[in-house]
Amino acid sequence: MKSYWKTVLTGGQDLDEYRAAVQDRNRELGAFLEFDPTRCAASTPDDAVVDGSAAAERVAGLPYAVKDNIAVSGFSLTCASRMLDGFRSPYSATAVRRLDAAGARPVGKTNLDEFGMGSATENSALAETHNPWDRSRVAGGSSGGSAVAVAAGMVPFALGSDTGGSIRQPAAFCGVYGLKPTYGAVSRYGLVAYASSLEGIGVLAADVDLTEAVFHIIRAEDEMDHSSIACPRELLDADSSAATDLRIGVLGGELGLDEVVATGYGRTVERLSELGFSVTAVELPTLEYSVPAYYTIAAAEASANLARYNGVRYGLRPDYAENPEELVRGAREQGFGPEVKLRILLGTYVLRSGFQEQYYLRAQKIRTAIRSDLARLFESVDVLCMPVFPVQPFAHGEAGLSPFQQKLADRFTSTANLAGVPALALPVGVERGLPLALQLLAPAFHEHRLFRAARVLEQYAPPATPPDYPPLWVKAGVPG
Ligand code: GLN
Repeated sequence: MKSYWKTVLTGGQDLDEYRAAVQDRNRELGAFLEFDPTRCAASTPDDAVVDGSAAAERVAGLPYAVKDNIAVSGFSLTCASRMLDGFRSPYSATAVRRLDAAGARPVGKTNLDEFGMGSATENSALAETHNPWDRSRVAGGSSGGSAVAVAAGMVPFALGSDTGGSIRQPAAFCGVYGLKPTYGAVSRYGLVAYASSLEGIGVLAADVDLTEAVFHIIRAEDEMDHSSIACPRELLDADSSAATDLRIGVLGGELGLDEVVATGYGRTVERLSELGFSVTAVELPTLEYSVPAYYTIAAAEASANLARYNGVRYGLRPDYAENPEELVRGAREQGFGPEVKLRILLGTYVLRSGFQEQYYLRAQKIRTAIRSDLARLFESVDVLCMPVFPVQPFAHGEAGLSPFQQKLADRFTSTANLAGVPALALPVGVERGLPLALQLLAPAFHEHRLFRAARVLEQYAPPATPPDYPPLWVKAGVPG
């Protein structure tokens, strides 16, 4: 099978050389919690039928990284939590099995905010991840390790998960493509649950072509996940080639962006009309409610999903306990970090009896309003364009954004999760040495529209690579 990517390492396919090169970079960046390119040889292809051989041709033989909340047989599955430190997965997620069948090879597990909760990968209990454009800054999160692995050229693509922006925001911070697919388009089997009604597995990649190819491979209805849905037949092979015959609605009004992001956003929006798109300014009246609704629903679901970590069947178990209650208390006290505890408490609070009407049910009503708001917009535009995050990558620690500011800043990303629609973050340039990005949204199962527009923008602003980390894998040819 022809490969369209090749490694620039002198030894070609020499795995030891590849391992050494990645480990060098990883010491500076902390993208991987575990990296072993030899292990992938052991991953057995199964008979999953991968439709779209063109997509399979694009990924065959490629190494890829997997966020450490997605199961890969034989690799760790820690969710960057002390609770699961040392746990190895006995099976692979459906998305990984489909990539196996296409001939791609998982080479390691990447750092994240504990259980996916955060926007900077600073809530990891196991490692620190740094932005390859400026190591004093965060990589974004929660799929920060996956974004860094791609941006720093270690792998051409990676899998991440997106509950409220966790693929798109780190993709934006690191200057790579990040696709959150339609809810249900990709099976969640093998994704450790945080907020089941909002999240899904998606792709981070170095270019649009590869983002789309990986998405086509992992997209499938799956009997192991009853919330997975087959893509409607008429949209399966929808044309996704570069085209400017799309009506783009650009989110306007007071967006609360910092100056650099606002200027970059304005410039790209102007460029959209110059490139030939029909552009109209639109508003999303429900936007201001997305963060409160998102955090109410996400915390409620998290409190239920994380109840399983009780130190009994698996996970951290205290050395000594007087009785079962003390055992569970000890496991949860020692196993979970502060952000996870905060959200479990918040979730338990909003779900407590007598108060559901006030919080959880109200959040569900807002969710419905957001869905209708978007449905209304998509009657007059094909694609919606908005920022990803109000600021560029911020500094580590106290000098950066507080946990509360980080949550407020999820307002542009959480909308797509609440509505279940696909969204793509794409790099649109570099300003002050840091990436700038844009987000495109489309109606459910219309990912092809995102690729059509992104291909046009990719020609206008080809993604840049961080100066210190030239890619170890480069495109070797353009598939016909
Ligand atoms: N920043 C959001 C949160 O902390 C999104 C995380 C995600 O998508 N997993 O919940």
